[in-house]
Amino acid sequence: MKKRRKRLLLFVMVCAAMVIGYSFLKTGDSETLPAKQAAGNGAVESGGEVSGNAGSEPDGDATAEGNAAIGDSDTNAGTATSPTDKPSQDAGAGEGGQTEDGMAVIAKPEEMAVLVNKQHKLPEEYNPSDLVYPDVRFIFSEKADKRKMRQEAATALEKMFGAAESDNILLAGVSAYRSHSTQKTLFDRYVKRDGLEKARTYSAFPGTSEHETGLAIDVSGSDGKCAAADCFADTKEALWLEQHAHDYGFIIRYPEGKEEITGYQYEPWHLRYVGKDLAAEIAESGETLEEYFDAVPVTK
Ligand SMILES: [Zn+2]
Repeated sequence: MKKRRKRLLLFVMVCAAMVIGYSFLKTGDSETLPAKQAAGNGAVESGGEVSGNAGSEPDGDATAEGNAAIGDSDTNAGTATSPTDKPSQDAGAGEGGQTEDGMAVIAKPEEMAVLVNKQHKLPEEYNPSDLVYPDVRFIFSEKADKRKMRQEAATALEKMFGAAESDNILLAGVSAYRSHSTQKTLFDRYVKRDGLEKARTYSAFPGTSEHETGLAIDVSGSDGKCAAADCFADTKEALWLEQHAHDYGFIIRYPEGKEEITGYQYEPWHLRYVGKDLAAEIAESGETLEEYFDAVPVTK
């Protein structure tokens, strides 16, 4: 009798162990799922279909228009600067003369730490020479200029997106490089339509957009929701970037509460590559690039 009971108990225990084991396996599987999906998405990235098209901007004129209207294209309504502001004489990349409206022309635009803002303008003829297509997910699928970044920044971006993915954070590029001629065409069209003064309040003056350096990129989650929009600030992707971007050499270029200094509203999606050392220093100090170079606040 006792023996039978023991056997029964043993049988029950074995069954229980099997059930527990099975459910454990299941959990393990589902945990690995996001990674698998991520890998799938990543593969798609290089050119195929990308989910979340709803959030992506259409092409052509509308894209440019849309981009420019958002702060990100480095334009911002309400933060227009006075053209009479004096540029700083000791801003990092050095000065290469001044434009007729008082902006400083950057002497070494190819430096990774280059300061480009509403007072520091890229030289008219500058085009980055080492632009490449970073192998990361974007919210659109076409092979456009706005995927491009300079080699060093592109490599860092790939590492950062990979690290985020390991933390189950799926990032996507929204817009990176924009050529000087694209920015100029866009701006000229606005000036024609609204006049210079008004155009300057919502569109970046050619040569003053960081996107022209090939070192800046706007980033969103892979669903493209809140792409270059204020609501991005509340996403887990934004939180991850705030905590980790500097490990890969990127800074949140337009932080919250620094609008007067940078001349831009808070843009948690706009990342700027400056190199690991400087990014770490800036993340540590909480400074902006302007403060780091002791440049005069843009809207002072
Ligand atoms: Zn941007």
